[in-house]
Amino acid sequence: MENSYDVIVVGGGPAGMLAASVAAAKGAKTLLLEKNERLGKKMLITGGGRCNLTNDTDIEQMVANIPGNGKFVFGSLYRFSGQDLRDYFNKLGIKTKVENQGKVFPRSNSAAQVVEALEKHLLKLGVRIKYQAKVDALIEGWGCCRGVVVGGKELKSKAAVIATGGLSYPKTGSTGDGYKIAGKLGHTVTKLFPSAVSVTCSDPWIRERDVQGLSLPSVKITLYNGKGKIMACEMGDIIFTHWGISGPGALRVGRYVSIEKQKTGIESIRGEIDLYPSTNQEEIARRLGQIALEENKKILKTALATVVPERLALVLAELAGVSPQVTVGAIQKETWRRLALLLKGLPVNIEGTRSIDEATVTGGGIAVKEVDPRSMESKLIKGLFFAGEILDIDAHTGGFNMQVAFSTGYVAGEAAAKHALESID
Ligand SMILES: Cc1cc2nc3c(=O)[nH]c(=O)nc-3n(C[C@H](O)[C@H](O)[C@H](O)COP(=O)(O)OP(=O)(O)OC[C@H]3O[C@@H](n4cnc5c(N)ncnc54)[C@H](O)[C@@H]3O)c2cc1C
Repeated sequence: MENSYDVIVVGGGPAGMLAASVAAAKGAKTLLLEKNERLGKKMLITGGGRCNLTNDTDIEQMVANIPGNGKFVFGSLYRFSGQDLRDYFNKLGIKTKVENQGKVFPRSNSAAQVVEALEKHLLKLGVRIKYQAKVDALIEGWGCCRGVVVGGKELKSKAAVIATGGLSYPKTGSTGDGYKIAGKLGHTVTKLFPSAVSVTCSDPWIRERDVQGLSLPSVKITLYNGKGKIMACEMGDIIFTHWGISGPGALRVGRYVSIEKQKTGIESIRGEIDLYPSTNQEEIARRLGQIALEENKKILKTALATVVPERLALVLAELAGVSPQVTVGAIQKETWRRLALLLKGLPVNIEGTRSIDEATVTGGGIAVKEVDPRSMESKLIKGLFFAGEILDIDAHTGGFNMQVAFSTGYVAGEAAAKHALESID
């Protein structure tokens, strides 16, 4: 391995691979260092192995789906949009398709094909790739990047892009190395937390597995803080597990649970699940009134099964304080009122989230106020750039995290090459 480059990219995930390809395409002598034995280990498991590359929506909607510092990436998303990403992959022979909720996947449904195509492209552009190369530190002199240290050896470069990812799924290589490297250089690492993560609940009807595996489409989950104020309200499909709630809807509120728990140390958070978000309370009451009249010979469990899955009907009856075996005609008005309220606000007691090891993305990271959003360059060290999940940016699921990685990788790679090629030795 030579020991002098224009640009060294640390980390071969989507952000690093894109940064390296763009830097090389601009004419910079580029080295990509990856500590694993292969590139894109996390990418291979994204979207259940199918790789949800981006989302077919406009930039405003993208930003709306990036609750963690979305505005910071606005410029990057313009520079390298979802459509640019699809065009880029199309040129590499990866055709894409749009699925439900705008999720964009490779037509082959193969994340492995995407990683292979990127690696081939990097080699074609002349990027030197070094595997099993763990970067330990960045070399800095007079406020400028001078290179990196790998296994005790110094490699010189005029610019470096740190794209080492976050902390989630550490087995894929994202073990937070970049936070330490940048932290030693004076960068602030904001509090890290699991984001896009499932939530754990203490409710006996969930814990005792009464509803395990039950999925509910398009519900609304509302979370309340200790003062009873709404702190998050998100829509999405959910699935009950033996420890809590998972699925896209739960993942959307997970970040707010993480933040609130970190901020207040509160033991549990009150949540409500609206099972019929597009129907108002009066209509629900009317529907139940109809059941009371028309199904009055049936037992409650059977009658309710026309509005919710039977297993949930049992839970609703229990929470409303009525036997599921009681005949509909014998049910009091007050019980119907309670059932109607439960359908619009099924209470859940959220204890916390699954660990960061299981989170889709890491919240927190390199403080964005110390990074120039136009170039991803550090405001502290010239020639040092950041890209991807290492930054204090986190998005909802649906292809937005990958888009953030690619867009910031694009901008960082382009700016790093410019910096290196214009700098005087
Ligand atoms: C199970 C799962 C499914 C997901 N599915 C999707 C999805 O479908 N769509 C979506 O948008 N997002 C998805 N995400 C999130 C997405 O994968 C990440 O946000 C994205 O991979 C971040 O890219 P990155 O390049 O910043 O970091 P990473 O992909 O984590 O890559 C960082 C790389 O840096 C390397 N590295 C770390 N430290 C060093 C070091 N010291 N020296 C050298 N190399 C180092 C690592 O080995 C790793 O290869 C998913 C995440 C998970 C965990």
